[in-house]
Amino acid sequence: MKQNWDAVVIGTGFGGSAVAFKLAKAGLSVLLLERGPWVERDQTAWDPLAIHVRGKYRGGSPQEVDERRGRKLVYPNHAVGGASVFYGGASFRLRTEDFAPSAQFNQTDHGSPPRMDWPIRYEDLAPRYDEAELTIGVAGVDGSDPTEPPRSGPYPEPPPPFGSSARRLADAARNLGLRPFPIPLAINFNGRRQRPRCVMCMTCDLFPCRISAKNDLAVTLLPEVSRCGGEIRDRTVAKCLLVDGNRVRGIECLSLRTGDTYTVRCDLCVVSGGAIASAALLLRSGLDRVEPHGRLVGRYLMRHCSGIVIGIFPFKTNPERQFHKQVAITDFYFGQPGRRPQGPWGMMQALQTPPPELIEHTAPYPLPARWCGVKTLPYQAYLLCLAQDLANWENRVDLHPQARDRYGMPVVRVFHKYSRRDLRARQALYREARRILRKAGALVQFRSPVHTYSHAMGTCRFGTSPAYAVLDSWCRFFGIPNLFVVDGSFMPSSGGVNPSLTIAANGLRVGQYIAEQWDEVVQHRER
Ligand SMILES: Cc1cc2nc3c(=O)[nH]c(=O)nc-3n(C[C@H](O)[C@H](O)[C@H](O)COP(=O)(O)OP(=O)(O)OC[C@H]3O[C@@H](n4cnc5c(N)ncnc54)[C@H](O)[C@@H]3O)c2cc1C
Ligand code: SF4
Repeated sequence: MKQNWDAVVIGTGFGGSAVAFKLAKAGLSVLLLERGPWVERDQTAWDPLAIHVRGKYRGGSPQEVDERRGRKLVYPNHAVGGASVFYGGASFRLRTEDFAPSAQFNQTDHGSPPRMDWPIRYEDLAPRYDEAELTIGVAGVDGSDPTEPPRSGPYPEPPPPFGSSARRLADAARNLGLRPFPIPLAINFNGRRQRPRCVMCMTCDLFPCRISAKNDLAVTLLPEVSRCGGEIRDRTVAKCLLVDGNRVRGIECLSLRTGDTYTVRCDLCVVSGGAIASAALLLRSGLDRVEPHGRLVGRYLMRHCSGIVIGIFPFKTNPERQFHKQVAITDFYFGQPGRRPQGPWGMMQALQTPPPELIEHTAPYPLPARWCGVKTLPYQAYLLCLAQDLANWENRVDLHPQARDRYGMPVVRVFHKYSRRDLRARQALYREARRILRKAGALVQFRSPVHTYSHAMGTCRFGTSPAYAVLDSWCRFFGIPNLFVVDGSFMPSSGGVNPSLTIAANGLRVGQYIAEQWDEVVQHRER
């Protein structure tokens, strides 16, 4: 096994895959470490019991998180491709204004210092958004989203027409004076690139795609990394970074195949384990002791303040039983003049109704409510309200002082509480979602807050000064020039759209910088 590399990238999610793609393409020797396995595209892929009840891809590193009744261990899925394998494919750009949030928020509304502004502008990221949409493959309609930032051209692919469920929601929204539009989706609807065409099934969000029509990273960017000579070492945990002076010398790895622990050496290390796992890895490696910003590692965790409004209709909402996560509404993205809270709220998007087995076995409700949920499922339609949440110093990741995971590493603890403003923004979106569902014919609506950390961001924010940021504007760890962090943790504010495309675009931006400035980046270590 080769143990000396130009670059080692930890994590195969959007950030890590994008950087690895650029570095491998530039001819550098690149090793990607991933604790999860390649997913199997077999009959289990669309099986709710296999994936969510028996937990086929559930990893061995739990996170201890706040729940309504105390704290609880959750075991996220681990897989090559990261969360992209299970995600819903919604691929939005941040809005131009999202790069300067301090101009939009009333600073007295929240407890964090007014340091949310990005050290880059939308224009810096725009070419990499173009590239991310092209390399991942996003189907959308340019000019249809009323708050979208400027684009250089159309989407690489068109989306399919709305099905009856999306049509009904879009018509209702239009009747209320809104401007609904198709969600840009990373799905191969048109059978391009010699890959299977999407069959519009009902098990997309939350499931791997059995036929590889979802453009997750395991079937898009990662094969490109391998084609360029990069190695993807799955089922390998990066236990800690070996730091000597101001330089990462290597990574201590644990092979989950053999149980062996060994070290890989590198000139450059890119950490991209996701906003929670990356912070934990840096804390395990003692990087919180790097002055003056180490104390910021793990702080300012964000997750969006999301919830679902469920409408129950007097008729079947999706009689053709096909994929219907299709329609989005951004008319309330920047809030509404004269209405509270002031400043940005976020967006709404249709969400697929889950398979009945998922409600039956996993919904956090008492048995009669779950039974009722299963029975009324064909009559339901969902609108996801995705509210922007604010960065707050108290929201953080740290390590349990005693408890250890299966691999002997400290259990990761997550502390998070929404601010009043976060909850108000979601509440305002709930109100609008209810109006739309009512207009579409729903007899009853109820709300279900999202408790997961699927949109984890922050924890290693980038900025212009180590006084308030962990990373510089190229996502380089201040004080350790051969260490970069590129997953969702770099984001100093959450914006009001799903984060994956932004993480990918930033990964491409950072990867291109490192590849073009390789000598400077590597020599920097000697200074
Ligand atoms: C069910 C679901 C649906 C979603 N839907 C959408 C959507 O429609 N649109 C959207 O934009 N976003 C969506 N998201 C969110 C999106 O998937 C994440 O924001 C995004 O994947 C985060 O990318 P990342 O690079 O930060 O990290 P991740 O995707 O979390 O990747 C990190 C990788 O690093 C690995 N890793 C971590 N620590 C280590 C270690 N120590 N050693 C080795 N490997 C390690 C992990 O196993 C993982 O594979 C969804 C998420 C979920 C869970
Ligand atoms: S809807 Fe399409 S992309 Fe999604 S899982 Fe089904 S076939 Fe795959």
